[in-house]
Amino acid sequence: MSGSANTLFEKKDASFICANCGYTVPPLGYSSRNHCPRCLCSLHADIQPGDRASDCQGLMRPVAVTTDAKRGFIITHRCVKCGHTRNNRAQKDDDTDLLIRMTNPHYFDDAKT
Ligand SMILES: [Zn+2]
Ligand SMILES: [Zn+2]
Repeated sequence: MSGSANTLFEKKDASFICANCGYTVPPLGYSSRNHCPRCLCSLHADIQPGDRASDCQGLMRPVAVTTDAKRGFIITHRCVKCGHTRNNRAQKDDDTDLLIRMTNPHYFDDAKT
């Protein structure tokens, strides 16, 4: 913990604590981040990407990862509360190992209950 005086969140690109793994996710700096780079979980906070207009606030877990030639890894998140799904681009500091493992559909077999 190095002292940071940032107590105001004027930008949407603010740090947040992951609701799934507890990791303190630092701001990206170039885009508003919407998921944790460690466990790739997100929060159902948006209706349109980045608007923070949803009051669901459910945990959104990755349920599929695909690759796109132009955009790279695309993570499909599904809200555990309401079942809403959303596609999100992976960010540059996301866990690439985890992303690659998740491109295998069988990765999610164990997670299904
Ligand atoms: Zn996390
Ligand atoms: Zn939801």
